[in-house]
Amino acid sequence: MGTVKVTVLAGGVGGARFLKGLRTELRRAYPNGDGGSTAEITAVVNTGDDMWLTGLRVCPDLDSIMYALGGGNDEQRGWGRAGETERVSAELSAYGIGWPWFTLGDLDIGTHIARSSFLRDGLTLTEATARLCERWNPGVRLLPMSDQPVETHVEFMLDGKRHIVHFEEWWVKHRAAVPAKRFIQVGVEAAHPTPQVLSAIAHADVVLLAPSNPVVSIGTILGVPGMREALRATRAPIVGVSPIISGAAVRGYADACLTAIGVETSAVAVAKHYGARPRGGLLDGWLVDEADAVAVPVLEASGLPTRAVPLWMRDADTSAQLAADALALARVPR
Ligand code: GDP
Ligand code: CA
Repeated sequence: MGTVKVTVLAGGVGGARFLKGLRTELRRAYPNGDGGSTAEITAVVNTGDDMWLTGLRVCPDLDSIMYALGGGNDEQRGWGRAGETERVSAELSAYGIGWPWFTLGDLDIGTHIARSSFLRDGLTLTEATARLCERWNPGVRLLPMSDQPVETHVEFMLDGKRHIVHFEEWWVKHRAAVPAKRFIQVGVEAAHPTPQVLSAIAHADVVLLAPSNPVVSIGTILGVPGMREALRATRAPIVGVSPIISGAAVRGYADACLTAIGVETSAVAVAKHYGARPRGGLLDGWLVDEADAVAVPVLEASGLPTRAVPLWMRDADTSAQLAADALALARVPR
């Protein structure tokens, strides 16, 4: 009896919900102590949203997942820590530093201080993340996509002027309402997937693409030189879950990101954007929502095994069932 290894490419909040469901499903399918197989989840996480802010290294997607799986997230608000206060941020703005539209909570700042301290001691981001996770016990191995900093910047025109800003400024301050001209991955030329990421992809039994933003979460991960090649080379089946249901992003502004790169906001277009592996793309399977069932014959005719299942991750049960459906399409034995 061995260990079933599941590797997931993920962004922040959509990634966290999916990973939580996957963890539930695998704990159910492989209960501990029965002498049988066990399961191990590794998440390869987008770090394109990372930044230095008020002297601290902030990693929004890694933290969204770490808090959500560690039980420390704010369920109502959908991001950050439960029971937050913002006293430190008020002090920082009195000094005129930081981003007024991107408030960091006091508890959250504790995480960023710890991370910055680890990095200053010479740890890699992978090692620093592992240290943070010792406290949170997410039950999933969290790996940044790269140890080299890669930051997504967004170019747009506003008031007749060209602007290039950090992704979070476009997303949070402008609510992605100003049409993006392009996304730039600053630092990507010098970046590569970590050895841990390459190993997690090469030795996986199945690779899943979470229903994360196809452009600025999954797209950023795929943009790291060598990542696509590693995925194309793995023997594991790669199954993706559509983040688009009935032609709309379920939460957030993924539609604005897709429009910017010339991809229609539909489950079919996103699947074609990733591509079917036999035709030079990445996917061996794709899940669309039941509302998009008409996409199934279309995509199957183009060589991509596709199933229509409920894709709304409303709670623990629906998220776990979605993970089970993804594993079933990948034919992971249970
Ligand atoms: P972020 O980094 O916090 O923006 O989160 P991700 O990139 O991981 O995920 C954001 C994407 O998740 C959004 O673009 C949505 O389209 C998608 N999403 C959010 N909730 C759901 C859901 O319940 N079902 C599906 N299928 N997709 C979802
Ligand atoms: Ca993100």
